[in-house]
Amino acid sequence: MNGSASDAVAIDVCGLTRHFGDLVAVEDVSFQVDRGAIFGLLGPNGSGKSTIIRMLLGILPPTSGTANVLGHRSLEESELIKPRVGYMSQRFSLYADLSVRENLDFYGRVYGLEGEHLAERREYVLELTEMGDYQRQLAGNLSGGWKQRLALSCSLIHEPEILMLDEPTAGIDPVARRHLWDLLFELSGRGVTQLVTTHYMDEAERCTDVGYIYLSRMLVLGKPSQLKALPQVSPEGTKRYELRIPKATEHLTTLRSVDGVRDATLFGETVHVLVDDCLDPPQLINRIEVQAAETESREIPPSLEDVFVTLTAAAERDHTNAAGVDLFNAEVQAERVASTVGPQPKMVKGKSLAGLGAVLAKELVHIRRQPTTLFFMLVIPVMQTLIFGYAIDTQIENIPMVVFDMDGRQHASELTSAFVNTRRFRLLEHVLDETTFHRAITSGRAKVGLRIPPNYSDRIVRGEQVVVQVLIDGSDSQVATTAQSTAHLLGLSLSIQMARAIGDSLQIAPARDEKGEGVLPIEVRSRMLFNPDLDSSHFFVPGLVGIILQLVTLFLTSFAIVRERELGTLEQLFVTPVGRMGLLLGKLLPYAMIGFVELLLVLTVMIYVFGVPVNGNLVLLLALAMLFMVCSLGLGLLVSTLSKTQLEAMQFAFIIMLPSVLLSGFMFPRSEMPLPIYLITFGIPVTYFIEILRGVVLRGADLLDLIPSIVGLVICCTLVLWLSVMRFQKRLA
Ligand code: ADP
Ligand code: MG
Repeated sequence: MNGSASDAVAIDVCGLTRHFGDLVAVEDVSFQVDRGAIFGLLGPNGSGKSTIIRMLLGILPPTSGTANVLGHRSLEESELIKPRVGYMSQRFSLYADLSVRENLDFYGRVYGLEGEHLAERREYVLELTEMGDYQRQLAGNLSGGWKQRLALSCSLIHEPEILMLDEPTAGIDPVARRHLWDLLFELSGRGVTQLVTTHYMDEAERCTDVGYIYLSRMLVLGKPSQLKALPQVSPEGTKRYELRIPKATEHLTTLRSVDGVRDATLFGETVHVLVDDCLDPPQLINRIEVQAAETESREIPPSLEDVFVTLTAAAERDHTNAAGVDLFNAEVQAERVASTVGPQPKMVKGKSLAGLGAVLAKELVHIRRQPTTLFFMLVIPVMQTLIFGYAIDTQIENIPMVVFDMDGRQHASELTSAFVNTRRFRLLEHVLDETTFHRAITSGRAKVGLRIPPNYSDRIVRGEQVVVQVLIDGSDSQVATTAQSTAHLLGLSLSIQMARAIGDSLQIAPARDEKGEGVLPIEVRSRMLFNPDLDSSHFFVPGLVGIILQLVTLFLTSFAIVRERELGTLEQLFVTPVGRMGLLLGKLLPYAMIGFVELLLVLTVMIYVFGVPVNGNLVLLLALAMLFMVCSLGLGLLVSTLSKTQLEAMQFAFIIMLPSVLLSGFMFPRSEMPLPIYLITFGIPVTYFIEILRGVVLRGADLLDLIPSIVGLVICCTLVLWLSVMRFQKRLA
């Protein structure tokens, strides 16, 4: 930027263009804003005003063209611009659950203000915007006009040289609108350059310069007085009158058809007509059959609204020739183009950790104000552990059984008792006929049916083989296999008992023990090393700790960021000098801390409620849990970069949670999975953490035993963090 121009020009835009896919949002827009000016960017909704401001602030890269603000390139040097510019975005984007004062202090701190200086600035803006009495109110409870004042106050806290206000008066009442404009004039008097967008035509009159954007292009540009004098607006040999006629709408078409009428536009209850000099109001009124007494007329200079209406109509008539009217000197234009063509400047990076303290403090206030978050993070996991820990009980006992005993003598009832004594089966009832027997199983009342034939006792006594039928409902495979193997084992052991009794009495028994008694030749004795009672909760609960830790941190972090994106506060933060890492760490650290407390709670429940002791080193476990939490927070961050709305975030988070629950080995053993699925399980971070948890808690594994899992976790963690931090940019697109 050449020195002489930069002093007088605050904003310099040249050929700025932005496409969103096929949509051209801004096309070849050029303008300059002098220091101290109030530049009004006017245009209907969707004409590209907000997009222009976002490009000026460097949070949206242009498709082509350049913008300089305060002598710096918007895109590459945005970090140099941000501390000197105040931005008020189109939507109310302050923190509703923070008070007026907390909002101000937060933005002040983000801009690096502290202590005395911050207090001084806060008092100054509160006085300027007359908000002193509202300091303690929550921002969300303010009325529309006061919300806008607060937003203005926040954008002024750091004494910006330029204010960019995106539709500051949209949606507020006329009185509040006037007050806000009074404030803008006041600021202008204090030397603050302002770029204000609006779609209210009357507000354009208040600006020192205006640009009118229509269909993404700058249609006209200049000072209001210059615009009104444009030949297209006030052609030579014409006059403009304001006519007050009853039922003006009905006469509009007739008026337009009158010879000598160049244009007629409705303005509330009046009509502005542009007529040839030769035509005067009495003649005009004659032509439209209204009583002259009921009308009033006066000659008026064109308003800016007339200017825009005329030029818009002209542009619509001649769409191809919509290049517009630019009051810039062509030579100046050419010079500017030349001056902006130069070597590509490097990206200027801001301080990465800037604003960390401010964001951290704010996040803690959010959490304090929203006890549901704490509830969700601390109470729910404990409840989940309890419920899941008890519910996922794979020990199968008391399988309902019906018995159809056709024998009815002692041997048969001993067999029934033997079934019940295994505790696997619970005797539901004795049935007396075949139909009831079958129906008991088909109806689902009983899962197992034991049918003892009529000659059972006889055959046992005679030493003949007897077949006992066990019907098993196979629809629940786990119950069925348990029932099947128990029944088989029972039959086997009863048979062996009988065989042993016989063998013992013979000369040659299969084998004998030291006491000389007949025994089985080979006896296999097993000993459980880690979970002697084979208590399934011992296996499940440690895994549950991992799943719950991921569930809560993943959801909360992704929501915490996406909520700000949805509310628009993230955009507001992007235009501040807050550093990328400062913003990220400030948002993630509080959740990491709460996550850690949650981990301790869930472990306590595991140890004291489920009686699962930690066999290994607790410190090692906690250290590795921290590593896993970093990974899980990273996943949350990744989700937040992928989603625009909280709903999307929820869907993404579910997509991540599903394989974590089903494929991580938490529910089903990984070794049993088909090869492609088994390979996928290596890409799931919680897989490694569950291995670590089970290792340390159940088997007392030490660091050495865990190395493969730790390496896996570290790799996952690095990848996830790298990906999410790369994706998280201080930009909108
Ligand atoms: P204005 O502020 O004048 O109302 P905008 O600058 O918001 O207009 O939008 C201009 C056009 O660009 C609109 O058609 C809008 O839908 C589109 N647009 C704006 N932002 C995006 C975006 N991030 N992605 C896609 N289209 C966008
Ligand atoms: Mg807008």
